[in-house]
Amino acid sequence: MVIVMAADATPSDIQAIVSLVESTGGEAFVSRGVSRVIIGLVGDIDRFDTLNLRGMRGVGNVTRISVKYKLVSREHHPDRSVVQVGGVPIGPGTVTLIAGPCAVETPQQTLQAAEMAKAAGATLLRGGAYKPRTSPYAFQGLGEAGLRILADVREQTGLPVVTEVVDAHDVDLVASYADMLQVGTRNAQNFALLQAVGAAGKPVMLKRGMNATIEEWLMAAEYIAQRGNLDIVLCERGIRTFETATRNTLDISAVPVAQRLSHLPVIVDPSHSGGRRDLVLPLSRAAIVAGADGVIIDVHPQPEIALCDGPQALVAEDLQELAHAIERLARFMDRRLPAQRELLAG
Ligand code: PEP
Ligand code: MN
Repeated sequence: MVIVMAADATPSDIQAIVSLVESTGGEAFVSRGVSRVIIGLVGDIDRFDTLNLRGMRGVGNVTRISVKYKLVSREHHPDRSVVQVGGVPIGPGTVTLIAGPCAVETPQQTLQAAEMAKAAGATLLRGGAYKPRTSPYAFQGLGEAGLRILADVREQTGLPVVTEVVDAHDVDLVASYADMLQVGTRNAQNFALLQAVGAAGKPVMLKRGMNATIEEWLMAAEYIAQRGNLDIVLCERGIRTFETATRNTLDISAVPVAQRLSHLPVIVDPSHSGGRRDLVLPLSRAAIVAGADGVIIDVHPQPEIALCDGPQALVAEDLQELAHAIERLARFMDRRLPAQRELLAG
């Protein structure tokens, strides 16, 4: 931690800081410039965080040098991690294609969407049984009946299931069906939910809050990690900006930034970012070339009657085209798509 003193700081202001830091067992190194004094703090950063240094007389600026998150940081774990979801790797070396319906509506619709996903080469099935809808009048999901449908479709297709949990009380129930728990953008700073999924013993996909900075997103991941679960995949899904042409603004730079700061895999959701079918392919391409470890795609057998997010859902041939594009780009990026036969064999 570095404290830059204000230009009018007095010797007693400086001494007060040195004494306070030393009283916590830390060391304070005072450097005197022509017009400013800088104090470098060495010691227990968590203890320094509890001190109200910014409020002390004569303090201009306080800068933390080390990051606030620990377990998810690359300072803690320099190599990038691979997270296994039902035998499917997500992380460096591979590009993972996850596809499925936004919402589980019926057994037939879910099976058809899963077959579309599988035929295109996807290795994980997405689908929401609990839907966090902006309007209370919109379809809220089938709940446990939807989880049973997902489990049946996993049985029929062999695709492990990623599904969202929106309430801390439902975590154990959802975890009993899911291969991976999803925390959505609207719950990305629901700390009780993050702690509960951290304790559930299943991999977690943590979407970025639509208003969250990258640091806030990583702090949210730290809540999960702190409960003993480091099987976390970060998902950039677009943020709120002034732009109205797209549903959200895909923050493509979040991919390399988050990968540099954290060892966790980072995937992209181009469906919820753009909110438009015609943008899913170009945004997926951009994601892979930016280094994303995978993409998660909404598909639907009949988008025109989808109960949730039909405008962004791909149909079978769109998904095939997308899968071919990302396979080519994965090779270009020295990565490969995990093959279904490995999954089914393993
Ligand atoms: C979803 O993936 O179905 C979803 C609701 O996404 P988000 O939380 O990113 O809006
Ligand atoms: Mn959706």
